[in-house]
Amino acid sequence: MAAVYPNPSISAMNVDNPLKALEREGLERAMHDLIAELYPICRSITGEGVRETLRLIQKRMPLEMHEVPSGTQVFDWTVPLEWNVSDAYISNREGTRVVDFKAHNLHLMSYSVPARKKMRLEELRPHLFTLPDHPDWIPYRTSYYTENWGFCLRHADLEQLSDGEYNVVIDSSLQPGSLTYGETYLPGETTDEILISCHVCHPSLANDNLSGIAVAVILAQTIASHARRYSYRFLFVPGTIGSIAWLARNEHRVSRVKHGLVLTGVGDAGKVTYKRSRQGHAEIDQAMAHVLKHADGPYDIFDFSPYGYDERQYCSPGFNLPVGCFMRTPHGKYPEYHSSADNLDFVKPESLAQSYELCLSVFDLLEHNSTYINTNPKCEPQLGRRGLYRAIAGQQEKHSKELALLWVLSGSDGGHSLLDIADRAGVPFNQIFAAAMALVQVGLLEECLKPVKAHE
Ligand SMILES: [Zn+2]
Repeated sequence: MAAVYPNPSISAMNVDNPLKALEREGLERAMHDLIAELYPICRSITGEGVRETLRLIQKRMPLEMHEVPSGTQVFDWTVPLEWNVSDAYISNREGTRVVDFKAHNLHLMSYSVPARKKMRLEELRPHLFTLPDHPDWIPYRTSYYTENWGFCLRHADLEQLSDGEYNVVIDSSLQPGSLTYGETYLPGETTDEILISCHVCHPSLANDNLSGIAVAVILAQTIASHARRYSYRFLFVPGTIGSIAWLARNEHRVSRVKHGLVLTGVGDAGKVTYKRSRQGHAEIDQAMAHVLKHADGPYDIFDFSPYGYDERQYCSPGFNLPVGCFMRTPHGKYPEYHSSADNLDFVKPESLAQSYELCLSVFDLLEHNSTYINTNPKCEPQLGRRGLYRAIAGQQEKHSKELALLWVLSGSDGGHSLLDIADRAGVPFNQIFAAAMALVQVGLLEECLKPVKAHE
């Protein structure tokens, strides 16, 4: 199955593409299988769950694991103690586990401190979290930066608990260790980078964000097998503290990041959503809008806001990187968000595949977008003499090719990229690119190495 955004004849990333030569079904299965494999692991912002997750990713792509010691100062934050858990439960007098971490890892609030207590139900209640509106779902709760403990359970199960004494056991550890993140660098012809970042800190939640991990892995596999202008950097980081740690350690080279996407919640059945970078009119914002406009299906684009995922850090004013956030239904806008209902059934193979294809189309466009200059700018050049103008009038397909030639000649003043021209002409980028290549061949167009941004 070709990418949603068709770019067949011109794209370095669309030729010899073993991954995209896979049937759509194979692609869907690869992503859903990876999600199913990662789903049972108990992840948090630190700990063995993140390492195990990264090791499973390493089986599919080269990935470097970095460890940042607890206590490391990263801008205004400190890398926390490492959290691991071996067992946690609440049992009744008979010794029956009424809430059991081993049955579902969402049952334990993430970063719960160790505990061994006997408590009456009334004393226990402030530590119990449920979703009364969805009595069969287990909520997801964390307490990373405040010492606390808690259990999450189905409201229906809470209602079954009788008064009386319960035994609380949390065999967790909070000790000096490290924060772990994964990084993959795929060098291209230039050191200019495209950054793809996803968070790896959520436990058994499929859309948020095993879907982002799965799409990132398959994107990396695809991009690795192609010649490319840009270098690509993939980050698999714990949310917030992970991207902050990466930025703190890589401040000296973030200026290489020319475009970026945070991938999150890309597997639900809802429509595609893109949140622009803080810059608002970065090339990634323009490329994404263009691809979504010319692809099939509904979508939404909204402006940057300082809440959401790791784009908050990449776009903070001290960095202001051109990084947008690609998702489907935004977080908090679907009832299953941060609950046990965000499970393997909630992520749809066809949604994952479409998300992958759209991102790849955007990268493909960025790979080919450039600014050119018309070498014959005084009046129109005679295209017929150069074999570029139709011999017979009235052929519709040829007519659109000619219009594309005229748009490229008209727009190539050294201040407008091919994407600018495609947007102004209202035609897909690939047609404008094909026209540009034809004009380069006959010497009517030259790539402009120092374009002047001259937006009207
Ligand atoms: Zn989340």
